[in-house]
Amino acid sequence: MERSHRTRDIRSLTERELADLVKELGQPAFRAKQIGEWLYSKNVSSFDEMTNIPKALRDKLAERFSFRVPTEIAKQVSRDGSRKYLLEFNDGTSVETVGMPSRNKLSVCVSTQAGCAMGCAFCATGFNGLSRSLTAQEIVDQVIHVAKDFDERVTSVVFMGQGEPFANFDEVVEALRILNDPDGMAIGARHLTVSTCGVIPGIKRFAELPEQFTLAISLHSAIQQTRNKLMPGAKKYTLPRLHEAIQAYVEKTGRRPTYEFAMIEGINDTNPEMEALIDFCAGTLCHVNLIPLNDTPGSLMKPSPMKKIETLQKRLQMHGVEATIRNSRGNDIDAACGQLKQRHVTVS
Ligand code: SF4
Repeated sequence: MERSHRTRDIRSLTERELADLVKELGQPAFRAKQIGEWLYSKNVSSFDEMTNIPKALRDKLAERFSFRVPTEIAKQVSRDGSRKYLLEFNDGTSVETVGMPSRNKLSVCVSTQAGCAMGCAFCATGFNGLSRSLTAQEIVDQVIHVAKDFDERVTSVVFMGQGEPFANFDEVVEALRILNDPDGMAIGARHLTVSTCGVIPGIKRFAELPEQFTLAISLHSAIQQTRNKLMPGAKKYTLPRLHEAIQAYVEKTGRRPTYEFAMIEGINDTNPEMEALIDFCAGTLCHVNLIPLNDTPGSLMKPSPMKKIETLQKRLQMHGVEATIRNSRGNDIDAACGQLKQRHVTVS
């Protein structure tokens, strides 16, 4: 029933535009509210699903508008229940999205860009560079797709898939607000986490937002030289400046940022690395997630032995720094952090 891709996505209409459209079509005003509910609360992806809207009106809408929802090109299911999707947008650009269920919760990891310009040494996405940034709707569509596939409410979203979110700041913030909207998916602000490589202008702007969205920083080393090698795209945001920006963020918001630290054997799990991390964190409000690096095929980097990860956790805790060892989800389907890469897979 969908029309040409050249027609406008009906979901891009504002409330005002929807009200004007209904008026223009000679319909009573309450139809705008009904249509709005289907679009923004029930997240339908076709006009036929709008069952309380008369068929004639649905046909009129379909003549002028479309639903530009992404197409699922492939899906893989992990042993731990995680599902990875390859979703293709209208222009043929595709991204990966992961759904991670646990007990009564469903978490989604979204991509904010197709590809990424940051070129992190341990990340499969970075190898191919950036194709383009996604729109807010394309980010939200990933969440809707996962919710529908699991037939469950999404309880949290992490912006940790492909791309550097703060290189696409405005669309990311718009997506956060759509996901947070109490009349829409109503995902609590604290359950919406944006993970950055440490793009300082983005951290500053993020601190100004009134909502309590959560900030995560991919740190991976508190020694400049190591960090430059691991994350060349973040080089210009030096560690002292980053530290300062994060402290200003904490002061302004009172919120606790998380540091992501992927542990790589012989690279950032040495004694000087541990000491530098403790120095970076001690006495500040933060939480450290220690994540054993995932084995990416073809990569020379290997995960640190668990013993070392536990040692670092204990040392951080001894200095009053909260630290958690996080299991990566879905690493048997290349869905874990740093493994997302556009690769067509057979639907299982
Ligand atoms: S880790 Fe994130 S920021 Fe770094 S290259 Fe990969 S997608 Fe980009």
